[in-house]
Amino acid sequence: MAADTESETRKRIVILGGSYSGVSTAHYLLKYVIPKLPERPSYQVVLVSASAKAVCRPACPRALISDDMFPQEKLFVRTDIAFEQYPKYSFRFINGTATELDHGNRTVSIDLGTDGASETIDYYALVIATGASTSSPLLGLTRDDEFLRTKWIAFRQALPNAKSIVIAGGGPAGVETAGELGEFLNGRAGFFSSKLENPKVPITVVTAGSRILPFLRLSLAQKAESYLAQVGVTVVINARVTAVSPPGAGTEDVSSKATLTLEDGKTIDADLYIPATGMRPNTCFLHEDLKTEEGRVDTNAVTLRVDKAGPRVYALGDVSSHARPAIHNLPNSIPVLCANLKRDLLLAAGNEESAAGIDREFKEDTRETQLVPIGKTKGVGALMGYQTPSFFVWLLKGRDYWLWMAERWWSGNMIAKG
Ligand SMILES: Cc1cc2nc3c(=O)[nH]c(=O)nc-3n(C[C@H](O)[C@H](O)[C@H](O)COP(=O)(O)OP(=O)(O)OC[C@H]3O[C@@H](n4cnc5c(N)ncnc54)[C@H](O)[C@@H]3O)c2cc1C
Repeated sequence: MAADTESETRKRIVILGGSYSGVSTAHYLLKYVIPKLPERPSYQVVLVSASAKAVCRPACPRALISDDMFPQEKLFVRTDIAFEQYPKYSFRFINGTATELDHGNRTVSIDLGTDGASETIDYYALVIATGASTSSPLLGLTRDDEFLRTKWIAFRQALPNAKSIVIAGGGPAGVETAGELGEFLNGRAGFFSSKLENPKVPITVVTAGSRILPFLRLSLAQKAESYLAQVGVTVVINARVTAVSPPGAGTEDVSSKATLTLEDGKTIDADLYIPATGMRPNTCFLHEDLKTEEGRVDTNAVTLRVDKAGPRVYALGDVSSHARPAIHNLPNSIPVLCANLKRDLLLAAGNEESAAGIDREFKEDTRETQLVPIGKTKGVGALMGYQTPSFFVWLLKGRDYWLWMAERWWSGNMIAKG
């Protein structure tokens, strides 16, 4: 068979999204699933990602301040390189954005970004792993790595002239960003001071909730608030931002001054504004029927299949409704998704139920787990329900925001066969 025809007749397992979920799933399939299938060469994993590089997203709250914070070659890593270890025919990387999923005809249209070029590919199996975007483009890949860098540059140019900063959102992204900026701009209060008096750049975290860090126990949220006070950050609770003027401040224009209107009608002026609220699932290319009310992919929380999308369609990571959006849920999700995909492929290839095995079931670990660094030396958090001392938050996350672990995610070494 000629090479082109061969590629046309391959059964494509298309994975949309090239970050923690998508890259790890691709490795897992290539390492542990496809080698176990009959007619192994007939399958091809196609990874489609809007960004050619993966980024260690948890590092963004510190990385946005300066390129000197982290080695850039570790922070941004080309997605395709780690796949050179597999047979060439078994993997293809497409740098493009999925624009439309036709789940009836089992095709996905991809915008290739250059001169309006596009491609429509059909899939035999599909994994949706397109994640979620923050309102602020400073905190992750809202388009591609170049776009993220451009936004960081614009923000950094405005930073030296900023006399006040407001961050909306009392979750970990908002708190970490406030802590990093506070320490960088204001330094830290002396050992015996509970609060930094007259910070050079007052920073305010406004949250709609009655406290920050709602996933952690109250005492940890209070401790976080006291660490924030030591770097010149004030927390304002029960303060939902209802309007931003000018409208694109903090989103389209990250260097703009902003006036924020709160629910009670009060206004706050900021030289810089960072909206760290409300993750938006990247699902605009999906039919409404496949989404939950929150816009996430309506995923079977036990099997990780997208039942309404037809056979052999799955979703995981931040885009999926099956679990709380967090990287630490992936080591449990990926082996389950891939085992069920393998089972579905075996059945589709004509194997008996007995040979294909039974479904694996996902169960979310809902214990209190979250680590929140506040600047380079402090932090609060809990792991599997146990409070972690500030020193361990620094050791595990705060010293480099998991950059030490990112390489293992991109190379496929993070998730062992489970
Ligand atoms: C500031 C911050 C700090 C965080 N810290 C932690 C932490 O310490 N621990 C933790 O567990 N979690 C943390 N999280 C959450 C964590 O980053 C996410 O859970 C994780 O990134 C989810 O991975 P993902 O692969 O599902 O999606 P994402 O990382 O969002 O990646 C989605 C990928 O899909 C691509 N994409 C998007 N749309 C399309 C499209 N239409 N077509 C093709 N490709 C597309 C994107 O370019 C990207 O490559 C943090 C999040 C933020 C914002």
